[in-house]
Amino acid sequence: MKTYIPYGRQSISEEDIQAVVGVLRSDFLTTGPAVSGFEKQTAEYTGSRFGVAFSSGTAALHGAAFAMNIQPGDEVIVPAITFAATSNAVVYQGGRPVFCDVESDTLLMDPAKVEALITDKTRAVIAVDYAGQPCDYDALRRICDAHELLLVADACHSLGGRYKGRMACSLADMSILSFHPVKHITTGEGGMVLTDNKGFESRLKMFRNHGITTDYRQREQSGSWYYEMRELGYNYRITDIQCALGMSQLKRLDAWIGRRQAIAARYDRHFSASEAVAPLSCRPDVSHAYHLYVVRLRGADRGAVFSRMRNSGIGVNVHYLPVYRHPYYSERLGYRAGLCPVAEDAYEHILSLPMFPGLNDAEVDFTAEKLLEACSVSV
Ligand SMILES: *Cc1c(COP(=O)(O)O)cnc(C)c1O
Repeated sequence: MKTYIPYGRQSISEEDIQAVVGVLRSDFLTTGPAVSGFEKQTAEYTGSRFGVAFSSGTAALHGAAFAMNIQPGDEVIVPAITFAATSNAVVYQGGRPVFCDVESDTLLMDPAKVEALITDKTRAVIAVDYAGQPCDYDALRRICDAHELLLVADACHSLGGRYKGRMACSLADMSILSFHPVKHITTGEGGMVLTDNKGFESRLKMFRNHGITTDYRQREQSGSWYYEMRELGYNYRITDIQCALGMSQLKRLDAWIGRRQAIAARYDRHFSASEAVAPLSCRPDVSHAYHLYVVRLRGADRGAVFSRMRNSGIGVNVHYLPVYRHPYYSERLGYRAGLCPVAEDAYEHILSLPMFPGLNDAEVDFTAEKLLEACSVSV
């Protein structure tokens, strides 16, 4: 096997291409019916009342931080292990992210450690369904309710997952999706906030459109030229071209989740007897959406294993450096090393293996065999 196996990759069908071409031949390239159609279908799929689509998952997170009115001085609790965009959204609004340590077996934010971080400045908790496993939302909801905090889910990894039978992305006050090509469904770039709250929905729509209270299509329909800018918003709109692709992709989401779970089960079987390779645990009461398949190496040197895998043409990766150890956070914002010891220790030993629906069984077997081999020579 000579070709490079990436860690993630989109699947594009002829039907996807036709859907995009259809929009190019239509009247609306942006702010049109494909945007509202995609929002409606995604909200329905997850069991949410509203979906508001954005130009990226990061823009959607920024929108959520705006919608809940995070302001300078406010604190928001976020996990140490996540993509930086989760906590950047708090910083965009002038708020301060407070990093919570993770559980060592799942790398999900540890609810037992959240409560100790709450102060009179805390406004919200942003949970991250790391790798695709939904967090313990019952525990988080109890804590948030007791302290009157909002609960937001960065669900960029967990579209299609379930928690105690309930859909991920429908369990928090707002849930954020990303449609980057490595995520479960793609629009090229794109994101969405899902919510049941009408007030959040209207603030999100205003925020993605410069802080203007009506959009172009609404003005066309009402025959009026007048609009008002009420808040400092952005142009965070997504196009109809992208949303047509999103709607087309959504039709295959369930099949893709099934394939991701089958790949994970196949990897698990390869590693079940290994001392050196330990997959992260999956709780019995969730259905894991497997955006990532992450293992923890025991004994072998992660750097050496990483190089050997890359040299074998396997696109392993590391998700993630604890956010506060990025120089922007440590040097500019003053966060110190050692803040979340479980996360820092885990970071030294984790590796993400290729995981995407188009990965075939032979590639899974090849990856697993190469990993076991790379670990045995580098102990
Ligand atoms: C992908 C991702 C984002 C950001 O999404 P973009 O669409 O790339 O802006 C945010 N949080 C997490 C956890 C992600 O994986």
